[in-house]
Amino acid sequence: MSTVLVVNSGSSSFKYQLIDMDTEQMLATGLVERIGESAGHAVHTIPEDDVPSADRTDAPQTSERDLPIPDHTAGFRVMLDAFEANGPSLTRHPLRAIGHRVVHGGKRFFEPTPITNLVKINIEELAELAPLHNPANLQGIEAAQKAFPDVPHVAVFDTAFHQTLAPAAYSYAIDAALAEKHRVRKYGFHGTSHKFVSEEAAAFLGRPLADLNQIVLHLGNGASATAVSGGRSVETSMGLTPLEGLVMGTRSGDIDPAVLIHLHRRTGMSFDDIDTLLNRKSGLLGMAGANDMRDVLSRSAAGDEKATVAFDVYVHRLKGYVGNYLAQLGRVDVITFTAGVGENSAPVRAAALSGLEAFGIRLDPERNEEKSREARRISTDDSDVAVLVIPTNEELEIARQTMSVV
Ligand code: AMP
Repeated sequence: MSTVLVVNSGSSSFKYQLIDMDTEQMLATGLVERIGESAGHAVHTIPEDDVPSADRTDAPQTSERDLPIPDHTAGFRVMLDAFEANGPSLTRHPLRAIGHRVVHGGKRFFEPTPITNLVKINIEELAELAPLHNPANLQGIEAAQKAFPDVPHVAVFDTAFHQTLAPAAYSYAIDAALAEKHRVRKYGFHGTSHKFVSEEAAAFLGRPLADLNQIVLHLGNGASATAVSGGRSVETSMGLTPLEGLVMGTRSGDIDPAVLIHLHRRTGMSFDDIDTLLNRKSGLLGMAGANDMRDVLSRSAAGDEKATVAFDVYVHRLKGYVGNYLAQLGRVDVITFTAGVGENSAPVRAAALSGLEAFGIRLDPERNEEKSREARRISTDDSDVAVLVIPTNEELEIARQTMSVV
């Protein structure tokens, strides 16, 4: 059995998933959180199929622990204990490799990259562009290297899939020298998801990826849209940082940049305050008081006008991006919804694609309402553009890319 451990590390937590690369099945998943706080917490889950038959229940097997976890290195020891106590044993099935999600690869990284000291220096240096993410990703890498010194470690970058953007798509219309000096341009994010989903869409349709023009709508707590032509990202909604573009759970997405200056001048808010406002207190949360689309919808149904406006702004922006990418691509074969909202919210999908029949987009209301965890088509049989719902699997994509270089 050839297994890959995928690690997604934040500043005070990390998630992991163990994947059998022969079958691409998930063997275990877990979360170590509240690292550095007085009371840490760890959860380890193995799917029901892998639980010894005598212990089987209907639910996946989950073990939890509360204990102080001073740092990421201690966190990895907790994770190792969980594997030994609950399985699968990593000593009996040694890892083939470890794949690390790294948010910002700048211009430098466009492929899965075996982690050397130089790569780590580069990731650290790119923290200038992703101050919340890259240092946290690096903490996870260093702790994992201590825990598994003999296993190859590979970095898979969120930005990598968008390296194919042309200057017309990635340049901001500002002073060129200033932009160059400070590396100000669009990078795009959610790349592993957009890549995975666009490939799955081609497989679902049974058509070569190279022939397809696609729009992928990754609508989770963070949200982004990507235009994919022949398997290459040609336009994407997130920018220098994951703030640009669509309305998200807590992020504003597109906004007149002068709003920042206006708020600073009128209220005395510092740039850090405005950063927090736009990244953490805006989007659905800012407009409706709830960052979860389910809450927004139920509040709207109960007559909460702010929630209705928030929903309308969300789908208005989304439809705008669909229109933009229809124009950029000229011909679109398939539009795919993915991630928490995209996979589960029929009202969002229906509203975002309503009134687009003239562009060959016809949703089947019944198919759209069907609940399923499988990839599925929700457009009518006679729709020129296939509309799909495909569950994303960023961990599997990271594991595949990791295997491609070890
Ligand atoms: P993700 O970032 O992909 O894990 O997506 C998380 C988000 O998906 C949550 O914040 C919810 O807003 C959203 N979500 C999950 N299930 C549903 C649902 N049934 N309807 C609407 N939104 C949902």
